[in-house]
Amino acid sequence: MDTVADIGEFGIIKRLSAYAGAHPDVLEGIGDDCAVVRMSGRVVLVSTDMFVEGTHFRRATAEPRAIGWKAAAAALSDIAAMGGSPTCCLVSLGCGRDTDAAFLESLYRGMSELLAECGVALVGGDTTGTDGALALDVVVLGEPAGQRYVTRKGARPGDVLAVTGWPGTSAAGLCALERGHAAPELVRAHRYPRPRIVEGQWFCAHDAVRAMIDLSDGLVSDANHLAEASGTGVDIDPEQVPLAPALRAYATGPERSAAGESVEAAARAFALTGGEDYELAVAVAAGQAVGLIGAFKERFGVPLSTVGQFTDAWFGARVAGQSPERGGFDHFR
Ligand code: ADP
Ligand code: MG
Repeated sequence: MDTVADIGEFGIIKRLSAYAGAHPDVLEGIGDDCAVVRMSGRVVLVSTDMFVEGTHFRRATAEPRAIGWKAAAAALSDIAAMGGSPTCCLVSLGCGRDTDAAFLESLYRGMSELLAECGVALVGGDTTGTDGALALDVVVLGEPAGQRYVTRKGARPGDVLAVTGWPGTSAAGLCALERGHAAPELVRAHRYPRPRIVEGQWFCAHDAVRAMIDLSDGLVSDANHLAEASGTGVDIDPEQVPLAPALRAYATGPERSAAGESVEAAARAFALTGGEDYELAVAVAAGQAVGLIGAFKERFGVPLSTVGQFTDAWFGARVAGQSPERGGFDHFR
């Protein structure tokens, strides 16, 4: 018997995808950030993301507004990762009988703040009772903002791997929350991440961008998804991974250095394997990478950093040429 722990989250998805079936209007099925389907002659992007108490959040460390915000952010980020423009969402909610109605309203208020910011309407959902745990599932629909959408599949050996913003800040924020450390900027990054929707659309408008994914599992794990989908390898240079000033400050702070860890290594571990940042990672044609990075910085005032290179020397992601011990988040491992 294989348990899900034996084969892992991605192993079980692969096995279950044998039952996917087919339809001529499916342009992208299982395997990308969104499914892409043609409906009435138009291309539609659709994705779903589940948020479960005890797995994705604990009520002790997550305020209700943040639970709602983050569930919406995770779902919208998958539209961003295809370069799409989100339109509407449906939210399914499971909760115990004794759940405070005001708590749920706060959660929906948090969700609606981000939805309003992104111009997305909540158009339906489903509600059910549970033994106590709170569960949320957000389905989001959108469409390509421009002439094309970008999948995970287009990276070629020689392309540059680049990442937006500051990976690792969310995981460091969670660490600070759980250990009672003061790190307000990191905690904010953990609780209220902003999906990079406009940035994703901008990448789509640049042909030099050949493949894209959002960082939900962590840089190494998500770069591995890009490489696997593209049938290639990628080498991540840990020295090039950008460290947010707040992450560096936290890693050098008294609480962490007391643990005796190398400061630089601790910060880099967050940036390489921490999930839920919802930054975007892209494969860029090498000759155009420098120009694209400069233009991105100018347009958004946020860094786009080269962190590695795609290669035909192996399949999947390596860090400085070595297979990573632990790539990122897997629900069953
Ligand atoms: P993301 O992190 O971008 O939300 P996931 O890693 O959750 O993507 O999922 C990878 C791919 O597998 C996606 O295309 C997703 O739609 C698909 N997938 C995940 N779980 C299931 C499932 N239980 N049944 C069918 N497809 C699934
Ligand atoms: Mg994704």
